[in-house]
Amino acid sequence: MLNFHLTDDQSALRDRARRFAIDHVLPVAWYYDEKDEVPVQVLEKALDAGLMNADIPKIYGGQGIGLVDATIVTEEMAAACPGIATSIFDSSLGMTPLILSENEALKRRIFSRILVEGSRVSFATSEPTMGSDVASIRCEAKDAGDHYLLSGTKYWITNGGVSDFMSVFATVDPKAGHAGIAAFLVDMQCKGITVGKTIPKMGQRCSNTVGIHFNQVKVPKTNVLAEPGKGFHLAMKTFDRTRPIIGAFAVGAARSAMEYALDYAKKRRAFGSPLAGFQAIQFKLAEMYQKVETARLLTLKAAWEVDEGIELTATASIAKFYATEAAWEVVDEAMQILGGYGYTKMFPVEKLMRDIRLLRIYEGTSEIQRLIVSGWLLNSYEPAMPSMESLPMHREIDPDTHHEGAAFRCRLCGHIHYGDTAPESCPTCFFSAESFKAL
Ligand SMILES: Cc1cc2nc3c(=O)[nH]c(=O)nc-3n(C[C@H](O)[C@H](O)[C@H](O)COP(=O)(O)OP(=O)(O)OC[C@H]3O[C@@H](n4cnc5c(N)ncnc54)[C@H](O)[C@@H]3O)c2cc1C
Repeated sequence: MLNFHLTDDQSALRDRARRFAIDHVLPVAWYYDEKDEVPVQVLEKALDAGLMNADIPKIYGGQGIGLVDATIVTEEMAAACPGIATSIFDSSLGMTPLILSENEALKRRIFSRILVEGSRVSFATSEPTMGSDVASIRCEAKDAGDHYLLSGTKYWITNGGVSDFMSVFATVDPKAGHAGIAAFLVDMQCKGITVGKTIPKMGQRCSNTVGIHFNQVKVPKTNVLAEPGKGFHLAMKTFDRTRPIIGAFAVGAARSAMEYALDYAKKRRAFGSPLAGFQAIQFKLAEMYQKVETARLLTLKAAWEVDEGIELTATASIAKFYATEAAWEVVDEAMQILGGYGYTKMFPVEKLMRDIRLLRIYEGTSEIQRLIVSGWLLNSYEPAMPSMESLPMHREIDPDTHHEGAAFRCRLCGHIHYGDTAPESCPTCFFSAESFKAL
């Protein structure tokens, strides 16, 4: 049964997240953006408020919120600051491989620690020499009996400098592609781990992004999230669940940009009228709202599918690339409506623009999402309509009996031949009788 209403619990969750975002995220966002630093105390407050790590399943003592609920929370956080929202959400990204893993003993051990100690988990597939091409991971995991030895560098790791655990994807054989990839839950206190200098970024400066170097780091086999050969699949399954969340980042940021533009358009005057009096501005606002609403619907649908166990990779990808690209357009129009002020650091749209540019890059670029969706279309999509060569176009219908006369269609040029047999050749494109298909 289709239903577009939030439940009472979901409305309460949204209100709680919105209050938190306005009270605790919004007031500090520009300060930490300027400092290029993650406000760890905000992450701690989010944890205390039950708005971070909330997806730890109930059987391990967590709240076990679903992806729809997580999307609702994320939209509110991102509406206040996409960078801080990334830092809050990153722990869920890091925990998802553990949630999906079949290593029951590891789940019990680690989730109880995360719950008691309020730990943060980060996620690492990317390296200095690869990002999109996950199968070409070079970070090596050497089998050493009861443990693996991890060596190599992970790059672009969100919260890498402030996390307690990290889901690390590495290979037992760099030449083996997908077949060599395994995944590990690594305790960041392990000997041999070096955290690099903060990578200076254009936006999302309230999130911590670093390189992590592993030098013969001993990871017990009890910490394996995915055995060699199963790590690539685990990474892709993780993205199916986390890409709708990136859609929610986009919805939140775009919604804020639209609201700021709406506010400004009503107050700013030009040529004797408020900007909102000009149809050109009204149409911009209408399209901005259309994009926010469409992006939210796609995002919620993708999240709902995961909660329902459907997990269609293409839906998660569509949500991500539609919402993140729509958000860019909305923020760009918001800046246009704010005119010169929009371009300054004294107004909020400038930071939103810098922050959301990243959404089209991390968790799989827009190009990679298009590859996924086109691959699915070409290989798995089931069309509803008959193929074009069987289309009953231009059939002759007897006006008295309403019966359709016998007809053949040239597969090549579409010419329709009426009669009980196909012609010897097509009178339009001259191909032989074999090119005709009975309709
Ligand atoms: C701030 C920030 C935070 C991040 N956080 C994390 C994190 O926590 N953990 C983590 O593992 N990674 C993280 N990443 C890495 C991120 O996921 C990668 O940057 C992203 O996947 C793209 O990889 P790349 O930068 O290596 O680009 P490349 O893969 O080198 O791609 C470069 C360009 O080529 C295009 N391209 C590549 N292949 C194709 C193709 N087959 N067809 C068409 N176009 C193609 C890409 O779309 C892109 O436009 C983060 C990145 C940033 C910037």
